[in-house]
Amino acid sequence: MTPPITVENVSFAYDEQPVLNNISMTVEDGDFLGLIGPNGSGKTTLLQLMLGLKKPDSGRIELYGTRADKYKQGTRLAYVAQQSTEADTMMPVTVREVVRMGRYAHAGLMPLSETDGRLVDEALETVGISDLADRKISRLSGGQKQRTYIARALASEADLLALDEPTVGVDADSVEAFYDLLGELNEDGMTIVLIEHDIGVVIDHANMMACLDGKLYEHCETQQFLESGALERVFNSTHGLAPGQLGGRA
Ligand code: ADP
Repeated sequence: MTPPITVENVSFAYDEQPVLNNISMTVEDGDFLGLIGPNGSGKTTLLQLMLGLKKPDSGRIELYGTRADKYKQGTRLAYVAQQSTEADTMMPVTVREVVRMGRYAHAGLMPLSETDGRLVDEALETVGISDLADRKISRLSGGQKQRTYIARALASEADLLALDEPTVGVDADSVEAFYDLLGELNEDGMTIVLIEHDIGVVIDHANMMACLDGKLYEHCETQQFLESGALERVFNSTHGLAPGQLGGRA
């Protein structure tokens, strides 16, 4: 089977500032990949390259076997960007309207069908926000907003869900439930790539981990990752963090 994401010898710089240096990795179907690394290590840049939102300076990135920046089947992908960059949190749209956006790529120029409406209702139900459907998105808590974006991704029936620090600004009680939901989606077959600053959460939920700091330090199964010493190498050198401070249960 063609893997969802293939990254081959990719380098990228903003103007003259190199950010990613010769990265190669593959995200396999059904992976729940946690992408970690210090602030400014290039995680968001790599995720956007993977989704074809930026072009690498050198190397090759493929989405389901097609060059990422030429990839046309947008319906297979869903991207939950960092909260502050979601422009529609400021717009006077309701939760249901945001989730319906997940169906537009399928419907094209046609009005949404009954089936589209059912998928929207099901997505709202799955993430537990049916009762908020008619509320303006600007009136939601951080956790409720992120659930709305997950519901939009669900409604789009995406095969690949990419999330960039989705729990920033989310109340602590909702974080665990949110990651349990991601775990269930992954068990149902959705491939997930997650950037998350709370490494403990990643260790608890992701089956694969990749650690970035300009270059790729390690990319392997979570347990193997913990045994590899990559965490200590990258984070001790940058932040002086002890592994005990990371909070994982694995
Ligand atoms: P991370 O997600 O790991 O925090 P980013 O990919 O956001 O890292 O950023 C990597 C580096 O690139 C940082 O030094 C950041 O300041 C820089 N950077 C990010 N976006 C831009 C941009 N649009 N223009 C110039 N530099 C940028």
